[in-house]
Amino acid sequence: MATFFDPRARITPSAQALIGLYRLAQGLQHRLRQRGQARGLSPAQVQALLFLRYARPGVRTIGGLAQRLGCTAATASEVADALERKGLLQRHPWEEDQRVITLSLTPAGEQEITALEGWLDDLETTLAALPPAQQQALLTAVQALVRTLQQAGDVVVYEMCWGCQFFRPYAHPETPQTPHHCAFVDTPLSDPYTYLECPDFIPRST
Ligand code: SF4
Repeated sequence: MATFFDPRARITPSAQALIGLYRLAQGLQHRLRQRGQARGLSPAQVQALLFLRYARPGVRTIGGLAQRLGCTAATASEVADALERKGLLQRHPWEEDQRVITLSLTPAGEQEITALEGWLDDLETTLAALPPAQQQALLTAVQALVRTLQQAGDVVVYEMCWGCQFFRPYAHPETPQTPHHCAFVDTPLSDPYTYLECPDFIPRST
């Protein structure tokens, strides 16, 4: 990284890749902002709609939204209020525990997020056109980077491992401190870690 901003230094492939990822992150943020603006939504409102579409019902609360947005509960509540005023979100007791107020999309909210989705389709098409070996290498690299960010605490986690299709319980009986395995980031997991909520969570299909 010492050579990152030094124009005289030879930029290594890993540094070049990191610069590319930084540009990619900027581009994705820009696209998200633009798509939202075009539909009269702030970036936080777009993220809240995505959260409501994909998070599990028990997590779709003001607290869960605050975690997802990385903000306070008061700010998350303001985002929810704004979406409610637009007729895109509704609050109601969660049917499994009436004490929990859960958030869900209204039919208009479903329509809105459907209109927003597809914002990554062209990038996915670009990746799908790469040779399979390059796609696999890219996936491996991304997994390693996600793992590094997770370990540094820079990626907020949302969904729990138990019930995730990447979770391999007790795959490492030889290491009791980290008995489980995450196939997404290809790393052993400790028991406490499996109770965190993970943004890479994909529910098991069966
Ligand atoms: S992707 Fe996330 S939720 Fe799934 S096993 Fe890995 S760490 Fe757990």
